[in-house]
Amino acid sequence: MSHAYHDEIIRAAHLLCEARYAIALTGAGSSTPSGISDFRTPGEGLWERVNPLEVASIRGFRKRPEAFYGWIRSLAVALVTAEPNAGHLALADLEEGGWLKAVVTQNIDGLHQRAGSREVLELHGHLREATCVACGRKMEAGTLFDRFLASGDVPRCPMCDGVIKPSVVLFGEPLPADVVEAAMVHVGRADLMLVAGSSLEVAPASLLPRQVYEHDGHLIVVNLMSTYIDDVADVVIHADLADVLPRIAQACVEG
Ligand code: ZN
Repeated sequence: MSHAYHDEIIRAAHLLCEARYAIALTGAGSSTPSGISDFRTPGEGLWERVNPLEVASIRGFRKRPEAFYGWIRSLAVALVTAEPNAGHLALADLEEGGWLKAVVTQNIDGLHQRAGSREVLELHGHLREATCVACGRKMEAGTLFDRFLASGDVPRCPMCDGVIKPSVVLFGEPLPADVVEAAMVHVGRADLMLVAGSSLEVAPASLLPRQVYEHDGHLIVVNLMSTYIDDVADVVIHADLADVLPRIAQACVEG
C-alpha cells in the first residue's frame, strides 16, 4: 500500500468526521478503475470514431438510432462484466458508517448501487430503464438490452414497435428534473463535498462544489487531474481514487 498523501488523507478523514452533512460527487474517473471508459468526454476511447454531437445527441438518436446503438454497444458490453472498484466500495463504507449522506454522480453505470451505496443521485440517468420514443411507455431495460447485446439490433417497444431509448441523458436533453431536485436538497444541506473522479468540466454537476464552498462548506478533491476548485479546496489529492478512498475510509474507522 502506498504512503503518498498520508497527511492529506488524515486531514480528509478528520473533515469527514467533523462534518454534519457530507456528500460525494463522482464522475467518470470513479469508474475507469472498473474498466469503463468515459462516455461523455470527447477524446476518450468511445469517441474516437464518431462525432458525439451526431451520435449521442437526442437529435442524432431520433434520426439514426442504429448509429447510437452501434456506438454504445461497446460501453454496454463493458458494463456487463464491470465490477465496483475499491473506490466505489469505500464510498459505500463511508455511507454505512454515517460519514457520508449521499453520492451525486455523473455516471450511468450503476456501480455505486452495486457497491452498496444507498442514496445515489444519477444526474445523467442510468441504463436500468428505457422509454419508447413513439408511445412514451416506460419499461425495465433488462431483457430488452440483453437481447440487444446478443443481436446488436435496435431495441423496439413490445407494444408499438417504436424505438426504445435508455434513460440516459443525451446531448441536447435536460437532466432528469426529479433527480436534480433531490441532488439540490443534498447540496443545500452539505457542509462538505468530496469530489472523486470528476475533473468538473461538465455543467451543471461541475457547479455543485462551488455552491457548497459559497455557503462555507469544505471541499475535498480526489482526482487524477487538477480541477477549477483545487485552489479553494481544503484537501487536494491527485492520485488514483481506488487507492486513496479506501485509505480515507479506513482513517475514518480508526478515528
Ligand atoms: Zn411504444
